[in-house]
This record gives sequence, structure tokens and C-alpha cells, in this order.
Amino acid sequence: AKASSPDPAQLAADLCAGKRAALARAITLVESKKAEHRRLARDLIQELLPRTGKALRVGITGVPGVGKSTTIDTLGSNLTAAGHKVAVLAVDPSSTRTGGSILGDKTRMARLAVDPDAYIRPSPSAGTLGGVAAKTRETMLLCEAAGFDVILVETVGIGQSETTVADMVDFFLVLMLPGAGDELQGIKKGVLEIADMIAVNKAEGDGALRARSAASDYRAALHILAPKSPNWTPPVITISGLANEGLDHLWEQIEVYRERMQKSGEWADKRSRQQVAWMWDMLQQRMMEALKTNSNTADRLKSLEADVRDGKTAVSLAVDELASLMGLNT
Ligand code: GDP
Repeated sequence: AKASSPDPAQLAADLCAGKRAALARAITLVESKKAEHRRLARDLIQELLPRTGKALRVGITGVPGVGKSTTIDTLGSNLTAAGHKVAVLAVDPSSTRTGGSILGDKTRMARLAVDPDAYIRPSPSAGTLGGVAAKTRETMLLCEAAGFDVILVETVGIGQSETTVADMVDFFLVLMLPGAGDELQGIKKGVLEIADMIAVNKAEGDGALRARSAASDYRAALHILAPKSPNWTPPVITISGLANEGLDHLWEQIEVYRERMQKSGEWADKRSRQQVAWMWDMLQQRMMEALKTNSNTADRLKSLEADVRDGKTAVSLAVDELASLMGLNT
């Protein structure tokens, strides 16, 4: 039997009332490849739009093993204990290749997984990073409409995923391991440039000294970069996700950041810029998709690509022909 399409108005009402099943169903619509579902998701998000945007959106990255899931589990539990509602989302573009996401796995966050004030959603398996990001952005909006006031977006630093996540959140947290001497060589300069804070993890007990020394190395590395904002110098702190040390201080810093950025107007500016960039991203994806699937252009695209590869056709000629097939004036 054909599954009945949900009534959008009812779904929106249930979602706003905090019904978990409605949120899950809405996210399924957002992640669906079916055109009909995508239309429903689109209309749902448009309807919910006034109820979105109120959460504090935090991106968290770090190499595998740094302690992302441990730290999110502890930090998230601290936050729900303080009365927050916490959603954990993941952006993992490799999830399609590996057949499963290693991020946002409920078994990796044992406490949050059973916390009634937390919601964990693994990475959508949407193929490209752009596809995963688009769905995660929409899921974030759904979670906000459902009353979650803290959104944690987890990612592993593969390719461009850090930048992509930094572009969808208010605050970007980078977790690092102690033992900076070697680590510092390996870290990508790019990740320091987008960090709003660096937290050196595993700093409990015997690890404290090494973590502090790593922190001062990272502080020096950050110092030579041009500041992103005149109102914020990214702090470098030490924490233990496992022992729940330093996480209150970590969260306080994020709240200080929010207060300062809201006061200076940078908060709203950044959100607006992100919205517009998102529109362009989506438009670009849509146009590429159309180019590759439209019967008008798809076949010709293949043969022109082959001709360009073999050196038979100049790139500019191939592009002109495709542009005119798409109805663009050249
Ligand atoms: P992820 O791959 O970044 O999500 O890292 P995990 O959270 O799975 O942690 C990797 C390993 O480091 C696990 O064995 C954790 O128990 C351990 N770990 C995580 N946080 C800490 C910490 O603060 N201190 C110590 N000593 N170990 C930690």
C-alpha cells in the first residue's frame, strides 16, 4: 500500500508542539530523494520559518579520536541539565561511500541518546558535501521550530566539510589533542582560520601539563593570523570531555561570544550572509543537476566532454554550445 502523504499543516502543528515523531517524519521528508517529498519539505519549512533562527548553532570539528562524541555527550548532558534542549546533527560527506556515518551515531553518545531533551540525528547520506549540507541546514531549521535552543553540528575534517559547517553555524569550535609539537605540523592552517575557539581535549589528570603546553602553542599559532572580528579573539582552552572538566567555561565563552556579536551587529550580519550564500549554493547545485539530467543537454554534455578530453574541441566552444542548449544567451 502506498504510504499516505502527511498533511503539512498537521505535521507543522505536531512538530511545533514538540512531538518527536513529527520531527523525525519532517526530517525524513527533507532527506528524501522523491520530488513529492521535497515539495512537502519545502512548504513545511516555509511555514515554520517564523519559528526558526532562535537557537545557538555551534559547529564542532576535530580529527577522529580527539573526543568529539565524548565531549558532545558530556557537554550536551550539562546543557540539558541546565534546561536547554539540544539537537546533535552531523555532516559527513563520506557517509555515502562507507554506507554509514561514523558521526552522529547514537551509540557514541550514550547519555544523550536516552536524554528526553536531546535529539541525535546522523549525517544524511545525500552524496555530495553540498547535498549533505543542504539537508543538514534544513534539519537545523526543523529542530529550531521544534523548540531546540542549542544545535551542535559535528563534522570530521575531511576535505571542505569544516568550512561548510562553519558556514552554517554561529560559532565554530575546534577540538585538538595535546602533544602539539607534532600535531601543529599536521593541522591545516585553514582550520585555525575558521576557529572561534580551540579546546585542547584530554586535559584531565596527568594530561593537564601536556594540554596546557599544546594550548600555548596553538595560542601562538593563532596570534599570527589576522583576527576575523575586532570584537573577538578566539580563546584557546583546555578541557576534558571524559572527566567533564572545563566544559562550563567553554560554554560560558560561547555565550560571551553571542552577547558581544549580538551587540555589535555581527551576529545578524553573519546569519544574513549565510542565508544568501546558502541560496547561491542551492541554485548552483540545481543548475548543475539540470545540466546533467536535462535531455536537451545531458547527451551533448557527454560527447562534448569527450571531444574536449581528446583535444578536438576548444573548451570555450563546448561551453558556448552547452550554454545555448540551456537557453542562455552567449
Ligand atoms: P571522536 O572520534 O572524535 O568522536 O572521539 P571519541 O569521543 O570517540 O573518543 C576517542 C577516544 O578518546 C575514546 O576512547 C574516548 O574515551 C577517549 N577520550 C575522549 N575524551 C577524552 C578525554 O577528555 N580524556 C581522555 N583521557 N580520553 C578521552
